[in-house]
Amino acid sequence: MRRIGLAFSAIALVLCATTASAQSQTSAVEKLYILNCGEGTAGDISRWSPGVNEGKSMDFVDTCYLIKHGQDWFLWDTGITDAVAAMPNGLAPADPKAVTWRRPKTLAAQLEQIGVKPADIKAMGVSHTHPDHIGNVEMFPQAMLYVQKAEYDWPGTNNEPRFKPSHPVELLSGDKDVFGDGSVTILSTPGHTPGHQSLLVKLSKTGAVVLSGDAVHFRDNWDNRRVPSMNADKDQSVASMQKIADTLAKEKGQLWINHDKAQRDGQKLAPEFYD
Ligand SMILES: [Zn+2]
Repeated sequence: MRRIGLAFSAIALVLCATTASAQSQTSAVEKLYILNCGEGTAGDISRWSPGVNEGKSMDFVDTCYLIKHGQDWFLWDTGITDAVAAMPNGLAPADPKAVTWRRPKTLAAQLEQIGVKPADIKAMGVSHTHPDHIGNVEMFPQAMLYVQKAEYDWPGTNNEPRFKPSHPVELLSGDKDVFGDGSVTILSTPGHTPGHQSLLVKLSKTGAVVLSGDAVHFRDNWDNRRVPSMNADKDQSVASMQKIADTLAKEKGQLWINHDKAQRDGQKLAPEFYD
């Protein structure tokens, strides 16, 4: 009897261990949507890769990401302003080497298509405060904004604040586990701007994904660890790329590069999603 009892205990232990490991694979993030937040043409991509690609033009995309965690919706980056959708020739930059942005789809229309109202977004994060990332922040005046203090305090043109002072904000000094369960983590990755940040998302089937922000702009620059010319701090940028690489190795994750059209062309866009 005792031997049978032990055998049962052993089986029970194995079953418990199996259940526990299955549960550890399940993430509280149900869905990750990729939203088209702009399409553009860069006049001269040597701007992002000093000394290489002189005079070479390249198509860019601008990407936002919407995460469903339990009953909560979390938006990462807001893209170029939806107002650009009404500009037939797009929004031309002051420097012709930079990106002319177009808006074939608005952020508002894509949220509507998946049945999400702007008021449903309870929290959001932006990678940094360049206009192609914060263009629609005030579409969500109620949403708690997660931003690094170094970015928030960085003076804008004519010393203007980077965000509307009335917008609810949580100022960060480093990484932030957004939901307290390790499923969505803001990674402090300064360099491109003083308080630049990236996002680690853990999905049940897809696995771990790091959303780059503008820590890197396209694949070839990632492979060669190139830092753009218009950048706040080169050493910080190099260190942040290493931090992302270490995170990818630890989590066996994929890097999704915000502006990389070649990569995004191979991905599912909203209303499809990753889980
Ligand atoms: Zn950008």
